[in-house]
Amino acid sequence: MKKQGYPRVEINLDYLKHNVEYVVGKCAEKGIEVAGVIKGTTGIPQCVKQFADGGVKYIASSRLEQLQDAKDFGIEKPLMLIRIPMLSEIEDVVRLTELSLNSEMEVLEALNAEAGKQGKKHKVILMADLGDLREGFWDKEEMTEAAVKVEKELEHLELAGVGTNVGCYGSILATEEKLDELVAVAEQIEGRIGRQLELISGGATSSFMRVIDGDIPERVNFLRIGEGILLARDLELFYGYDMSEMHQDVYTLKAEVIEVKDKPSHPVGEIAVDAFGHTPEYVDRGIRRRALLAIGKVDYGSIDEIFPQDEGVEILGASSDHTILDIEDAKRDFKVGDIVSFGINYASVVYVTNCRNVQIVYV
Ligand SMILES: *Cc1c(COP(=O)(O)O)cnc(C)c1O
Repeated sequence: MKKQGYPRVEINLDYLKHNVEYVVGKCAEKGIEVAGVIKGTTGIPQCVKQFADGGVKYIASSRLEQLQDAKDFGIEKPLMLIRIPMLSEIEDVVRLTELSLNSEMEVLEALNAEAGKQGKKHKVILMADLGDLREGFWDKEEMTEAAVKVEKELEHLELAGVGTNVGCYGSILATEEKLDELVAVAEQIEGRIGRQLELISGGATSSFMRVIDGDIPERVNFLRIGEGILLARDLELFYGYDMSEMHQDVYTLKAEVIEVKDKPSHPVGEIAVDAFGHTPEYVDRGIRRRALLAIGKVDYGSIDEIFPQDEGVEILGASSDHTILDIEDAKRDFKVGDIVSFGINYASVVYVTNCRNVQIVYV
């Protein structure tokens, strides 16, 4: 079958590289190095190359297959696993990555044994849970004991430092006080092992706010940044930061019109459930002109995460493979075969870059 041109996501690689350089530069002013987190763009190697060329210290992902793809593509930066390793993937973690985030002694022991087997030294960061309640040691005494054990007993591991993650499950803000808590844990560990830790990893994009504001604790010297580079939308959308020096349109989604008709705006018949078992509210606005697109929720997830670029165009709804637009007030005269463009948020970039129905085009 001939490869269809649409739907497609267009990725501007120069914009992406600019965003990487901007974030790396801002962080460098504060003595902070950056791990470029590639999972939001499904680890597409052409995108990963922009992270590498833009000067990140590590290429990071939660998924090993994306790191393997980066390596196969010829990316030479050290690789980092940012999800706690599965016991079933330890061999590949040690083979492929230089550094991993950890929170379980059992996993650390398995990493140590495997590193010994492969004749390698594997670096680890121990994660502290400071209230976000996803990964990390909750009991900081247990964390300190684990650090001492890694330092003194697990000879094939190198205790690189400590880290934390906020704003993922628990919606906790990366405040100066939260990051001070992390530094305090680091210093407690340093007191026990009698040396300074190399890395204090103070979070993800939400901690970049502290870099912008200039109030990030001095000892935090490592951040892991994905969204803030790929899209740079969240800090503006949720916290009102001015991100105008970055490109928020690295990604553009394009889909093709397959039907244009005037139809009622309220379904006709007995209302039951839609394709996903829900009953949405339908507003009766009389007969309206609508366009049907050959793209659906399977491709981009939710209609709340994509934004039509045409003035006067509104998304009415979607099913798995279709999206319905209200074009009654559109400036453009839509015809079958026309292409409609959308800006997209992180939650949809994850889908469209990971969907075999959506062609990826570099511009
Ligand atoms: C996804 C992830 C990041 C990157 O998060 P962004 O908000 O996209 O910057 C950093 N650290 C960990 C542990 C993650 O899982």
